[in-house]
Amino acid sequence: MTANATRVLVLNSGSSSVKYQLLDMKDNSRLAVGLIERIGEETSRLSHTPLAAGGDGPLLAEGGRGGREREARIADHEEALKAVADELSADGLGLDSPELAAIGHRVVHGGLKFTEPTVIDDAVLKEIERLVPVAPLHNPANITGIRTAQALRPDLPQVAVFDTAFHTTMPEHAARYAIDVETADAHRIRRYGFHGTSHAYVSRKTAELLGKAPEDVNVIVLHLGNGASASAVAGGRCVDTSMGLTPLEGLVMGTRSGDIDPAVVFHLKRVAGMDADEVDELLNKKSGLVGLCGDNDMREIRRRIDEGDQRAALAFDIYIHRLKKYIGAYSAVLGRVDAVAFTAGVGENAAPVREAAVLGLEELGLAVDADLNAVRSDEARLISPEYARVAVAVVPTDEELEIAGQTYALVSN
Ligand code: ADP
Repeated sequence: MTANATRVLVLNSGSSSVKYQLLDMKDNSRLAVGLIERIGEETSRLSHTPLAAGGDGPLLAEGGRGGREREARIADHEEALKAVADELSADGLGLDSPELAAIGHRVVHGGLKFTEPTVIDDAVLKEIERLVPVAPLHNPANITGIRTAQALRPDLPQVAVFDTAFHTTMPEHAARYAIDVETADAHRIRRYGFHGTSHAYVSRKTAELLGKAPEDVNVIVLHLGNGASASAVAGGRCVDTSMGLTPLEGLVMGTRSGDIDPAVVFHLKRVAGMDADEVDELLNKKSGLVGLCGDNDMREIRRRIDEGDQRAALAFDIYIHRLKKYIGAYSAVLGRVDAVAFTAGVGENAAPVREAAVLGLEELGLAVDADLNAVRSDEARLISPEYARVAVAVVPTDEELEIAGQTYALVSN
């Protein structure tokens, strides 16, 4: 790697999409962001936005300015990555640039083996493959993304940054399900947790916001996007998180049920005659807010509530009730809470969710200042009143920056 190789391409390969960002770790700036959707369908959509050097922050990352959008037929991930390479080349940012230090891949499931970002070789790739049974929706796409990127730049370090890694510090009593130990171990059934990159970044940023070292701070992180998860972070280490073997457990999400009596699954099989795939589809794609009221966008739900829609109001209440239970549970797990941090699409933008989630939790030291909560900003900020014992914060997440930072730290050593 040459000394001026400071750029990292971050790839997030989903089953039918590839999201990417090119960052320069010299100053943590973003050089380009883009997204290819509907890979394998009749027409795929590609959007690419080159950013002026020094560009930073979620506003620019949304790609509204000076971007290019087009439709094309992109048959598979190989074609998708070639399209990414072409788009970057058109802006003089091609994958052949000597300034490119590495490619950082988001990998959803790293099991117990991967506790850190890892340079990918054949053995690592094999291990990620071995985890497909516990992440059938995600790891195969991640693997395809890695293989394709390796073929494009075989000489370049490729690094896997795992969604599960931050949670591997969970103690056994938090990570184990109370089921037969032999069965659990034989099938690697335990709580792994996801969104780890975001929980790591946000808990660290929250400590920074409080002017403290991560080791000195206990934080409850609420990552509320379309997928949603909570974590209890004690002194910079995750001690509990709401997602489990898969991202289905925990909070009410856009389309996922979150916590549910497992007997519902065999009830659906025995009484409703559904097979495993149908139950999977029901709980992952047709439940949560969408199952409760038909919408999973919090903006739309709030709009309907304002118009007096009862179903939307009930969906909101169920969502908030679950959130509160986790805040209470993690207050107990941590013993002392210094901050509760809201992040991701809903957490960063939906003031009514933040207000409702802490309403009535004064006994836990939690309160929100209505004026501070109403402020819209891309910056990390406190929204609790001076007197509150626990800081309530809004901390925009930046998974791409975290992946790029971890990747660069590994390859520049
Ligand atoms: P993911 O990365 O899980 O797809 P995001 O973190 O981008 O999700 O969050 C997307 C969700 O954020 C949307 O479904 C919507 O509910 C919510 N959201 C985005 N913007 C706003 C807003 N201005 N007000 C309320 N909710 C919002």
